[in-house]
Amino acid sequence: MGKLLSGKEVSLNLINKLKKNILKFKCEGITPAAAFIRIGSQRDDVTYQNSILRVCNNVGVITILHELEDNVTTDALIELITKLNEDSSIHGIMIFRPLPDDIDEELINNTISPEKDVEGMNSINLAKVFAGNYEGFAPCTATAVMEILDYYKISLKGKHAVILGRSMVVGKPLSMMLLKKDETVTLCHSKTERIDEISRTADVLVAAMGRANAVGVDYIKPGAIVIDVGINVDQNGKIHGDVNFDEVVNLASMITPVPGGVGSVTTAILIKNIVKAARNFECNKPTAKVCELI
Ligand code: NAP
Repeated sequence: MGKLLSGKEVSLNLINKLKKNILKFKCEGITPAAAFIRIGSQRDDVTYQNSILRVCNNVGVITILHELEDNVTTDALIELITKLNEDSSIHGIMIFRPLPDDIDEELINNTISPEKDVEGMNSINLAKVFAGNYEGFAPCTATAVMEILDYYKISLKGKHAVILGRSMVVGKPLSMMLLKKDETVTLCHSKTERIDEISRTADVLVAAMGRANAVGVDYIKPGAIVIDVGINVDQNGKIHGDVNFDEVVNLASMITPVPGGVGSVTTAILIKNIVKAARNFECNKPTAKVCELI
């Protein structure tokens, strides 16, 4: 049976480090603060939002929630974001996704100031990731995958990674991050032919398609490391990954569970980015003392 790569363990480790950072900041009179924007009131979105706000509050990050109606316009959203950009008491801004179809998502992403873009969705931050520069903010989920590989000291150099899914949130930025670690990367998508054959060449297989249990034994090379990013909620509210865990666990050498895998780490990375945004902002002040992150 493959070794379980516990996202909960990785997350706990990171959160403990962040708590120390936040405590140190508080001694300097600074409390990291983030604004969260939720549009509409779908149950899954509210559950996700509450879990993020709970973790933020537990570690000492101030959270300010803006709840907007389903029919909010792009202009109204831009107005709110512009105010938050100018508000010096707010270090980070996050918007719960998916956004309604009639909202111009790219425009919204690029309206958020790159310095407060803790989700790493602004084009300036994304461009930095593609240039191999992590001084800005990288997308949280792709970073969470790298954090898990790093925590478990998984050697990537020269290995073949196959990523299933090419979204801007996961697949594309992750491909650049793995490339920077000297992996050879293949990015697959819905038009890829013989995807199972390609997947079977992977030393590290990352599934990020949003297709419940789609990755079975046909996709796995014996001994592969399998990272399941998928979060698919069925009619009964049960969460499934993209990987058929029961089928794959005996063939893989290591595997992330769902839940308790990548998702747990994504929230910790978001908080890490809020703390980093607070540090960056406060360090630009002439009287700054809080420049070191643990
Ligand atoms: P997305 O924007 O819908 O992108 C899905 C990607 O998968 C697309 O590139 C699509 O190809 C590809 N794809 C879809 N069906 C496929 C198939 N049958 N074979 C091969 N490729 C296929 O989704 P996303 O936002 O990246 O999210 C992906 C999954 O990760 C979802 O389950 C989501 O809930 C989950 N997620 C988890 C976290 C976390 O923290 N764990 C965070 C974000 C997302 P095309 O480009 O050709 O359409």
